[in-house]
Amino acid sequence: MFHEKMLCDVCKSEISQYYDESYKGNRGKCTICGIDFPLE
Ligand SMILES: [Zn+2]
Repeated sequence: MFHEKMLCDVCKSEISQYYDESYKGNRGKCTICGIDFPLE
């Protein structure tokens, strides 16, 4: 289940959300500044 649309804390652009197979969970990534973090 994906979260509501999120904005990056740093650059305020839209966070893209994806399922990571190795992590076995949803992650969010900012394509502008490259931060990547777990969503749960
Ligand atoms: Zn960003």
